[in-house]
Amino acid sequence: MRECNIEKNKSMCNCTYEPCPRKGVCCECIMYHKRSGGVPACFFSDEAERSYDRSVENFIKSYRENGF
Ligand code: SF4
Repeated sequence: MRECNIEKNKSMCNCTYEPCPRKGVCCECIMYHKRSGGVPACFFSDEAERSYDRSVENFIKSYRENGF
């Protein structure tokens, strides 16, 4: 089985929500936000990410304004 690259993933993660136990575990991060109708922090610009609004609506707004 392939090992998870948690430390490498963390080095590329722009999420500023520090207490999250899913940081660097991208598969869990994606499933968590998918279940709640949102997307992970890395889909947002740094500025939009800091709002902690991970909704699809905010993603579309952020993407239109800033791209990835
Ligand atoms: S995007 Fe969400 S699940 Fe992923 S590390 Fe940040 S707070 Fe945790």
